[in-house]
Amino acid sequence: MQTKSKLLLFVTFMLLILTAATIINISLNFRKYSINSAIEKSQMAANIVKDGLTAHMVNGMMDKRQYFLDKIATSNNIKSLWIARGENVIQQYGPGLNTESVRDEIDEQVLKTGESVQKITENTKNTVLRVTIPYKASTPIDNTNCISCHNVNRGDTLGIISMEFDISDMRSSGMMTILKILGINLLFIAVVLILINYYVTPYMKLFANMQDGIKKAYSGDFTHQFVSKVGGDAKIVVEQLNSLFHKMQETFGDIKFNLATFIPQGCVSSHDPLHEAKTIINELSDIYKFKKTIELDGSKDEVYVRIIDILKLKYHVGHFAFFEVNNLTAERKLIFSTEDETICFEKTNKDAKICRAFRTNTVTISTEFPNLCQACVATDINYVCIPFNINQDVSLTVSMTSDKIEEVELMKKNISSIRHYLEAAKPVIQGQILMEKLKDTSLRDGMTGLYNRRFLEEFIDKIMSHASRKKETYAVMMIDVDFFKMVNDTYGHDMGDRVIVELSKVLKNSIRSSDLAIRYGGEEFVVMLNDATDEGIQIVAKKIHSTFAKIAFDVGAGEVLKKTLSIGIAKYPTDADSIWKCIKFADTALYEAKNTGRNKIVEFKPEMFSGDNF
Ligand code: GH3
Ligand code: MG
Ligand code: MG
Repeated sequence: MQTKSKLLLFVTFMLLILTAATIINISLNFRKYSINSAIEKSQMAANIVKDGLTAHMVNGMMDKRQYFLDKIATSNNIKSLWIARGENVIQQYGPGLNTESVRDEIDEQVLKTGESVQKITENTKNTVLRVTIPYKASTPIDNTNCISCHNVNRGDTLGIISMEFDISDMRSSGMMTILKILGINLLFIAVVLILINYYVTPYMKLFANMQDGIKKAYSGDFTHQFVSKVGGDAKIVVEQLNSLFHKMQETFGDIKFNLATFIPQGCVSSHDPLHEAKTIINELSDIYKFKKTIELDGSKDEVYVRIIDILKLKYHVGHFAFFEVNNLTAERKLIFSTEDETICFEKTNKDAKICRAFRTNTVTISTEFPNLCQACVATDINYVCIPFNINQDVSLTVSMTSDKIEEVELMKKNISSIRHYLEAAKPVIQGQILMEKLKDTSLRDGMTGLYNRRFLEEFIDKIMSHASRKKETYAVMMIDVDFFKMVNDTYGHDMGDRVIVELSKVLKNSIRSSDLAIRYGGEEFVVMLNDATDEGIQIVAKKIHSTFAKIAFDVGAGEVLKKTLSIGIAKYPTDADSIWKCIKFADTALYEAKNTGRNKIVEFKPEMFSGDNF
């Protein structure tokens, strides 16, 4: 039932109870009052009759008493009036007129007890008040002494006076009063209900409107426009609600838009943007924590273990295998499997191209088509296989299996979420792969242990793309020993080698772990300083330059050899927008140092370079 109907019903009920209580109260009081006033009137009439009879007796006009009684009856609206003699009067004066006999038990009772009696008789047509009072000898009235004429004792009952009053009027006027009160009350109730209806209806409409809006808001729709015909506070509330909803709509639109840049649309299927935002933020927060953790992991295998844990603990995948694939050779390595045997490893370990997910680089779900992947040897098991490329050389495959269709549905639902984790792990795994490669001896110079030119050629682009993403800078130093040839020529090749090794030690000791030192050619070295200030670059260059110059090489016969360095410096990205250009410019600066006397540090300036190779 509507609130308004309930309110109207309640008010009506209460007013009706009030009306009923008023009517009962009034009718009871009215009846009591009417009866009392009728009794009073009857007492008065009885006393008049008593006094009248006494007067007739005193004046010797008792023969005219019936006329008197008739008159009294007519003038006082008495229905019937009669008197009856008591035993003692009958004995002394006889029974009297025919009308003066005892008519009923009440007469008899009053004659006997000397106590007056009032009685009300009601039937459907009328109401009659019967009053019978004793006429006693005891009361001297106007010096009249009854005992002088009657042979009675004082206090004896001489007779009775009985009267009947028709008080039906009282009942009908009572009924009229009650009807009037009822009418007025019903009218009042009607007016109250109309007024309540008039004033409450707009509020009820407003509440209904608010309910609609809030219901929509629950499902994430804040476009509802609140309307109200009610002024005052209600109008202010409506305006505030409209402004709040407008703000919510805008804010959630922005949040959704911004979140969509982190997580692709459709991965959280909900029509409720609040729920959607919460889910995406939770997802982002989990991924952020995951990323922070794996960034500190020491190896690629540790990162793989974390991915496996996510599959087990977050997505509760009961059966799965995790593969690493060499994209170039199509060889597949089983990193982890919940089972002793996977559904496809035997077939695909040598040739991953049999794996549909790897070959097509799309998620492969067995429920989509019968015998979808040729590599699968199991017949009664469904699979969801997610391929994921880490870089040109390496990719991963997550192969989840289940014989329960509801588990497969859950896996399908989690595909994009699992891919977010792989996406988060991708740069870390790429970094770990790079680190592994950097440890490769073929990239290092055997004599000095520094990186060789091959390393520079293979990895500098990767390092620099990472640097430009992270807005890092590099200072490139090209270092060459002055007149080195002379060492070989004068002291032999071994002495030349010693000079080269000592220089490499100076370089290693002068740079930080984030910097790179590379043997670029015979006695030519490249040092790359990561995120160094101009002042820092100079300090390192001078340190290398002066430390090396101080080294005294024992050449025998008590003689020592000292050598100097020429250093050319160029900065990325200040001097050049590519690292190769920068190396070239550092070489130009070195050439300048050689040409202007050697044993010096020269920073690149654009006017030094006249070539048009870049
Ligand atoms: P400049 O001041 O102009 O640099 O004169 P330089 O004599 O140093 O000339 P340059 O840099 O061209 O000399 C390079 C020499 O380094 C030529 C080569 O014989 C010698 N060399 C290259 N690699 C090695 C090596 O591994 N060991 C030794 N001992 N000598 C090497
Ligand atoms: Mg040289
Ligand atoms: Mg040289």
